[in-house]
Amino acid sequence: MEEQTKRIDLHIHTTASDGTATPEEVVRAAADMGLGAIAITDHDTAAGYARAAAEGRRLGLEVVPGIEISTKYGRAVHILGYYIDPEAPALREVLDWIVRDRDERNAKMCQLMRDDGIDITYDYMRERFGEVIGRPHFAEILIERGLARDMNDAFDRYVEKGRKYYQGRNFLSIERSIEIIRAAGGTAVIAHPFQYRFDDAGLRDLIEHCMASGLEGMECRYSGYDAAMSLYLEALAEEYGLLKTGGSDFHGTNKPDIRIGDGKGGLNVPYRFLEQLRAHRAKD
Ligand code: AMP
Ligand code: ZN
Ligand code: FE
Ligand code: FE
Repeated sequence: MEEQTKRIDLHIHTTASDGTATPEEVVRAAADMGLGAIAITDHDTAAGYARAAAEGRRLGLEVVPGIEISTKYGRAVHILGYYIDPEAPALREVLDWIVRDRDERNAKMCQLMRDDGIDITYDYMRERFGEVIGRPHFAEILIERGLARDMNDAFDRYVEKGRKYYQGRNFLSIERSIEIIRAAGGTAVIAHPFQYRFDDAGLRDLIEHCMASGLEGMECRYSGYDAAMSLYLEALAEEYGLLKTGGSDFHGTNKPDIRIGDGKGGLNVPYRFLEQLRAHRAKD
């Protein structure tokens, strides 16, 4: 029975990006759940991996290095990269560009908030939240200052596209994202395919477009995706010869309804997904 095999979670954010749990806390939670392995997939940085891996060695939990990059493909599409070398120069260069671009956008958001009477500086945010700062951090400040009830409310009223503190940022092309993941020795995977609201033909176009750049996998199990949705994605992955992955997209209290390993309930990503990923890499 699949339910009795070891489960894994290959989509986790930490405080290195916009999660609220540290890399060590994430590993401890996964070990407590009895998971067989996890991957750290912070936005635009692999800085959380070393700490997670050290804690994983201490607790006997396998930790896979990963990343999640937001790209532009008409709409925003996220690409996951597994087993990237965090030190690869090709990757470092691009990640530095993304962080500089985030910084420019974030400084403008800070200015809009200051103009509106909120006492906030970007230096303070950098000091408090680290290198990769995103809208969830602004939302956290707004909640703390009593200007929003919770994350969703803060996004809805202030930092969602079109709201008063929103500023856009630039995105890497989807082709380039896949290429740099591969150049860093990683395996590129389309994240949460249903979040983009493509129909079947649109999703197939996306897959075919990405495969032409070196895509090798698709996230088939994800928080909130029911059995029918996952079966559909797994059939598509098989049809295209893509690896299947799955994970919760855990962000700590920034997405309070999502738990490591279990998602919104019953996530169930089997260990064989990771075995197949490793077997495929060994052949390359
Ligand atoms: P940024 O990349 O800085 O523009 O921020 C986008 C990130 O905000 C996404 O990757 C999500 O993790 C997060 N996000 C977007 N909408 C929401 C929301 N309604 N509640 C919580 N987090 C959100
Ligand atoms: Zn995030
Ligand atoms: Fe994502
Ligand atoms: Fe994510």
